[in-house]
Amino acid sequence: MSGTHSDATISRQVRELEALLEERGIVAGAALDEALDAFLAGSSPLNGARIVARAWTDPEFKERLLADGTSAVAELGYAAGGVQPQRLRVVENTDHTHNVVVCTLCSCYPVRLLGPSPSWYKSEAYRSRVVREPRAVLAEFGLVLPPETGITVWDSSAETRYMVLPLRPASADSLTEPALTGLITRNALIGTARL
Ligand code: FE
Repeated sequence: MSGTHSDATISRQVRELEALLEERGIVAGAALDEALDAFLAGSSPLNGARIVARAWTDPEFKERLLADGTSAVAELGYAAGGVQPQRLRVVENTDHTHNVVVCTLCSCYPVRLLGPSPSWYKSEAYRSRVVREPRAVLAEFGLVLPPETGITVWDSSAETRYMVLPLRPASADSLTEPALTGLITRNALIGTARL
């Protein structure tokens, strides 16, 4: 596998770090497992959906979300943690533009907001092809965009993660924020689907 931080490399680095932390008595294995479990339990596409439903119903929040995603989602309790916090950039679909997210190098993904990434997101085929021929790849997902719709592909990195702000369906005009949340799918937040 190409890339400087393949899954295998990351797994090895995590095991080494874990062994060091335990060896020095800094943290017990059980405590680490607990912290990881808590992180994964709190990681779900429902988080991204809540953020989008809020943006659809609160124009001022939406403005803050598009200007500075990291700070805006922290308002809803999704703070960027860690030694090297990742920047979140939220990109908005419109009638004439569509956004789709990839990590061409490996599989960087906003796990906290979208849950664990789907296997196709990590596949060599998606990573290489969506950049070269996004329209064709989206069509394979069942998303056929009109030729006049511009497509922007966002390449994630260790520093910056992306999430798509989908277009609010016209049929959803009268729905409340919780009902809107239920409409929003993971693939719409990656950009391989529309709602
Ligand atoms: Fe990556």
